[in-house]
Amino acid sequence: MNAIVAAASGRFETQLPVLIIGAGAAGLCAALAAKEVGIDVAVVERDAVPAGSTALSAGLIPAAGTRFQRVNGIEDSPQLFADDIQHKAKGQSDPIVVDAVTRGAGPLVEWLADRHGLPFDVVDNFNYPGHSALRMHGLPSRTGREFVDRLRNAAEANDIMILTERSAERLFVEPDGRVRGIEIMHRERGREQIGCEALILACSGFGGNPDLVRRHIPDMANALYFGHPGNRGDAIIWGDALGAALLHLGGYQGHGSVATPHNILISWAVIMRGGIQINREGRRFCDETRGYSEQAAEVLRQAGQFVWTVFDERIANVAQQFEDFREAERAGAILKQKNIPDLANAMHVPVETFVAEWNDAEKLKLNGGRDRYDRQFRSDQLCGAPYCAVKVTGALFHTQGGLAVDLSGRVKRKDGTIFPNLFAAGSAAAGVSGSTAEGYLSGNGLLTATVLGYLAGKAAAEQTLISLS
Ligand SMILES: Cc1cc2nc3c(=O)[nH]c(=O)nc-3n(C[C@H](O)[C@H](O)[C@H](O)COP(=O)(O)OP(=O)(O)OC[C@H]3O[C@@H](n4cnc5c(N)ncnc54)[C@H](O)[C@@H]3O)c2cc1C
Repeated sequence: MNAIVAAASGRFETQLPVLIIGAGAAGLCAALAAKEVGIDVAVVERDAVPAGSTALSAGLIPAAGTRFQRVNGIEDSPQLFADDIQHKAKGQSDPIVVDAVTRGAGPLVEWLADRHGLPFDVVDNFNYPGHSALRMHGLPSRTGREFVDRLRNAAEANDIMILTERSAERLFVEPDGRVRGIEIMHRERGREQIGCEALILACSGFGGNPDLVRRHIPDMANALYFGHPGNRGDAIIWGDALGAALLHLGGYQGHGSVATPHNILISWAVIMRGGIQINREGRRFCDETRGYSEQAAEVLRQAGQFVWTVFDERIANVAQQFEDFREAERAGAILKQKNIPDLANAMHVPVETFVAEWNDAEKLKLNGGRDRYDRQFRSDQLCGAPYCAVKVTGALFHTQGGLAVDLSGRVKRKDGTIFPNLFAAGSAAAGVSGSTAEGYLSGNGLLTATVLGYLAGKAAAEQTLISLS
């Protein structure tokens, strides 16, 4: 795609108050919020059916202080959540954006449930690394496919236009940075130009653009990209051409547990409930519980660029709440044996080394001890027969760096001033994970997609309402 910015000239055949590029979680939440303000809104989406990385995700949104937590007796607060985000990101995240999304997440999840009928509940049988409270909210299937389908249904029920099979190719912009419209391309209908009062970039990050990944995230240049291939970095390419501030382009969400060669996500629940990872020499190589994101590069550093995630049937039962895990079982990715030596043989790893590693970890669990990597074990993580293992690799899930925005998703220029009517949300905007994979706290992706999407949609619509009145 030739993603460029052109000078605005003349009138547009079609004019819409608020235009959104990208129909993932960010774009659809923005559209629902804008429509609620009472403004007409259209979403331009390249694919035939909205999906994006949102559909590939587990659809889990972290939120603090929700009624779903309260009925489960979970104490939490936006401040605690914000502290967890900053702790993981080593204080690199913009505190204003962190404050906006952590305060906004609870009301957002309840709004999606109450206003739009999304049946959320809180994941209460395991926690993700770095979260001080159980705060992941998901839908029954624990899939992003269900999430994006339900968002699309809500958009359709609210008469929101989703213009599918149209790729946004160009922005038309005044010298003062005011966006006047965009050019879209339809395979059969050709090019069309649409004017707008406000534009929201919700077309995600640059994981699907190998050149940009090589430039900004060299560690992942040769890794499997597990996100949506259509996320080619258009938002940052346009933003760069406009003089927008780009932030933390080295930040990303990796994952150290993608079943290979099946390419199916194995939930980190298996680690948090007591599983370990061993390399092909039969050895552990780090504290797996620091986070799945940084584990991607760690796994790729091991010989053969794969490792084994090992757990037991009790843990498999917890992971079975995820459709992905059930799919991995159906695909034959999960080995199961009645004892550890047999499992080692099935995995083709040195039996003695692996048995010693396994027994060491089990002993530490018994006494609640720490291992040589400083991993803290607990007695409720003890495993028993039958035992399971899955061969996994590390992957790039999505990029976290992007356009610098304020607390309403307004895009900032390099000098810190804001563009008059340009917004960004989701992976198009800089996230709250800082500049590394380590900074990614589970759920940061959908957190900024949904909450910043909502805030940007609301602000764009309110601003448009004023300018049109
Ligand atoms: C396997 C996997 C699991 C994950 N699990 C979780 C999880 O459980 N919780 C969590 O918080 N995060 C998770 N994430 C991250 C999360 O999926 C993303 O952060 C989030 O979906 C980003 O939403 P988005 O709306 O910004 O982008 P997307 O959902 O990717 O949507 C962007 C859309 O823009 C469209 N588009 C792009 N360019 C153009 C253009 N020029 N014209 C028109 N359309 C365009 C694309 O086709 C796409 O539909 C996961 C990611 C992966 C890959």
